[in-house]
Amino acid sequence: MPSRLDAVVVGSGPNGLAAAVELARNGAEVLVLEAAETIGGGTRTAELTLPGYHHDVCSAAHPLGMLSPYLTTLPLEEHGLSWIQPPASVAHPLDRDPAMMLRKSLDATADSLGPDARAYRRGISPLLDHGRDLVAEILGPAHLPRHPLLLARFGARALMPATVLSRTWLRGERARALLAGCAAHAILPLSRPVTGGVGLLFLLTGHLETWPIARGGSAAITDALASYLGSLGGRIEAGRPVRALADLPPSRIVLFDTSPNQVAAIAAPVLPARYVRRLRSFRYGPGIFKIDWALDGPIPWRDPACLESATVHVGGTLDEIASAERAVWRGEHAERPFIIVVQPSLFDPSRAPEGRHTGWAYCHVPGRSTLDRTEVIERQVERFAPGFRDRILARHVMNTADLEEYDANYVGGAITGGVTDLGQLFTRPVARVDPYSTPNPDVFICSASTPPGGGVHGMCGYHAARSALRRLAAAAV
Ligand SMILES: Cc1cc2nc3c(=O)[nH]c(=O)nc-3n(C[C@H](O)[C@H](O)[C@H](O)COP(=O)(O)OP(=O)(O)OC[C@H]3O[C@@H](n4cnc5c(N)ncnc54)[C@H](O)[C@@H]3O)c2cc1C
Repeated sequence: MPSRLDAVVVGSGPNGLAAAVELARNGAEVLVLEAAETIGGGTRTAELTLPGYHHDVCSAAHPLGMLSPYLTTLPLEEHGLSWIQPPASVAHPLDRDPAMMLRKSLDATADSLGPDARAYRRGISPLLDHGRDLVAEILGPAHLPRHPLLLARFGARALMPATVLSRTWLRGERARALLAGCAAHAILPLSRPVTGGVGLLFLLTGHLETWPIARGGSAAITDALASYLGSLGGRIEAGRPVRALADLPPSRIVLFDTSPNQVAAIAAPVLPARYVRRLRSFRYGPGIFKIDWALDGPIPWRDPACLESATVHVGGTLDEIASAERAVWRGEHAERPFIIVVQPSLFDPSRAPEGRHTGWAYCHVPGRSTLDRTEVIERQVERFAPGFRDRILARHVMNTADLEEYDANYVGGAITGGVTDLGQLFTRPVARVDPYSTPNPDVFICSASTPPGGGVHGMCGYHAARSALRRLAAAAV
């Protein structure tokens, strides 16, 4: 081992590994330290219920996986990653009518939206023409846009609350519900600014690339990053929690793939007190309650079209979803919560024994909630899939405390790296021109608590690595 490494990355989530890869690709000597016994952070896969049932512990479907401007530059397929794209990105069932389907085809999606077919087509079509460029613009820190007109066209609607966007853009219940389900990924009340933009972004991703799952489980994503990192000479040590600066080997720079409160706890001795206070005041937002099921068959959705998508948005109409998200934000538990259900085994037989299936679901809950939401979630799924409960062979649940114990980044059970409202969207974790840097020129943050935030896309890690590489270059002069 060299006496002094170029960089140590604390944490091996998708952002930590993306940062390490970008550093190693540019010749840096990198070591990744991971607290857990296995790598991967929010992308691990495990037999949580019964032998032979492989569940995604955290991320399952990846709207940005095949659209990430960074991950798509890496030879991850050569290192074992194989994406599977179901026929549709999202199914969204209603009580009576057929489910809405977010399909790659704009026409097929729009035509199923009744009175809003034309408005939907006209709203999405101009964004699609340069869709990948737009996604790349959105997935960066605040910057001078390369496509200002495109961004302006998106931004005018993106800043709106989803409730306002739906009223000004759409008329019918179907299209409004589809938008609401996508907007609810923001984990904010749908009456808050920016939630319209989250909804639009998720719709747009579905028209650019059908949301993929990873063959064998989401662990394949970070396993591929780790394998590529190894081929570049980078190293990873698991079972190495970093609790203090003394736990770090000598290196020129350190990048934290951790929550801001951990950066504060670990690096306080080398950071100004004012900056540490701001890290400590970072807002994480609501948490989630998650269930994984071993099932003796596919979820029996009333509308079988739902089986054409791995991801199903369960929550009914826009009003119902908005009310559920509002309740959670007020610190209450919604009795009819919005639930994201994913069934990877429909498209990837390696996930369960022959003829059997896995199911993955979560609903939003107030931060630090320890209330068991099993009954409420299963009742809500049963509403759209009568007979569902009879298919359950075993279940595994995680409340907010279990999640934080599993991965210290999920503070209070929050899964997106922190609240993504206007106050923290571009300025996470602290308002700085370069949000990946800290006042200490040798300390960087690369987790989902930096722009562009949560999700498996590696962009926080990539941007942090670019910032760190500038520092390494400057120090070498
Ligand atoms: C239940 C759940 C479901 C999700 N579903 C999806 C989904 O379907 N699609 C999607 O795109 N995204 C999803 N996400 C979000 C996604 O998983 C995260 O946004 C993403 O993993 C963030 O990557 P990261 O590298 O910033 O952090 P993480 O993936 O959390 O990785 C951080 C790593 O750092 C390690 N670590 C933390 N502290 C220390 C320390 N002090 N010392 C050493 N190591 C440390 C942790 O053990 C962990 O391995 C989900 C998240 C959760 C929790």
